[in-house]
Amino acid sequence: MYFIVFFLQNAFDRIYQRLQIKAIAPSDQFKRFQISAELKRWLWTADYSSRFATIRDCSPLFALSVRDYSRLVEFYSVGHIWNNSMIKIAGKTIFYKHWANAGVMKINDLMTSDSRIISYNCFKEKFCFPVSFLEFCGVASAIRSAMRSLELSLPGEKILENLLIKLNSSNKPSQAAYKILITKKCTRPEKSQNKWIKDCGFVDVENLDWESIYLLPRICTLSTKLRNFQFKFLHRRIATNSFLFKIKLSETNLCCFCQSAQETLLHLFWECPITEAFWNSVQQFFVSVDLIPASQALTLCQCLGLKGEKSALLFNHCLLLGRFYIYSCKYKNIRPSSIEYVNQVRSNLKIEKHISIITGTQNAFEQKWRKMLQAL
Ligand SMILES: [Zn+2]
Repeated sequence: MYFIVFFLQNAFDRIYQRLQIKAIAPSDQFKRFQISAELKRWLWTADYSSRFATIRDCSPLFALSVRDYSRLVEFYSVGHIWNNSMIKIAGKTIFYKHWANAGVMKINDLMTSDSRIISYNCFKEKFCFPVSFLEFCGVASAIRSAMRSLELSLPGEKILENLLIKLNSSNKPSQAAYKILITKKCTRPEKSQNKWIKDCGFVDVENLDWESIYLLPRICTLSTKLRNFQFKFLHRRIATNSFLFKIKLSETNLCCFCQSAQETLLHLFWECPITEAFWNSVQQFFVSVDLIPASQALTLCQCLGLKGEKSALLFNHCLLLGRFYIYSCKYKNIRPSSIEYVNQVRSNLKIEKHISIITGTQNAFEQKWRKMLQAL
């Protein structure tokens, strides 16, 4: 349920009103849990159509996720046949009292172990009460079309039933449903990956571990600003002059540091002589604090974060900070200075130290920063 809480930002107020609970500080984990429990209760009621009208305009991503999610939750966690907004005959939800009296309540009551709807004869054997064949077929086809409307097929998994079995057999169907939705929506950013491969002239493409590359900023730093920057950087969503010139937002496409070459992503962060000098000073700084041996030069992959070395946390954190510093220099229209960079590393150290005291993770902090603790 947490993903809903995160997507909700804009919709929070309206939902608070609806749930009649007071506005809650986002940092308060315990109360957050209460929200999610409240939300769960709210989502698990039978008819969503009217409720969604109020939040549909908040965020398309949110509304889509909640709608998909709530449909799955309704279908699997609650799974009632009666008054279920997805199971309709002639456009109306159904309730057959004589079926309910005989104990037919849930969709699962009409399912075989392999998630197919049971036959009329099986139904008659299982529930001993008179039901006409026509009435049975009506309910069965309503359930079938509800299942179809969920469109629960994954790219690699054409058989809907496999998925239904997975969900039915899962102890945590909500979690499983969430994972399925994520798998359905996520795609590989092939364009940006191919552009990086072309730009950097990588030959050994097989060895590029993109998953580690994308995860690295999450592991090596606590700063959301740096993480967000690297996310944009890897997806090539950093506006360089060559792009800004193309869309007529900049008067020049030349590099803001050297003013002599076209400012592309690769030029700005690696090829430019000014940037090159900056990386050299960063390398000297690393050597001075004993982070790397004097003989080791910084490589293109390391400087651009295209190498997912999970073990070298501080090393990667500092390089990420270097990239961000180059980026901020571009916007301040100043040349990168190694003194200012070291100041930034120092302030990052202080922030992480403060966080480690609050969260009681001093050991992890000291292990990560030990080489710089004395030097800075
Ligand atoms: Zn340049």
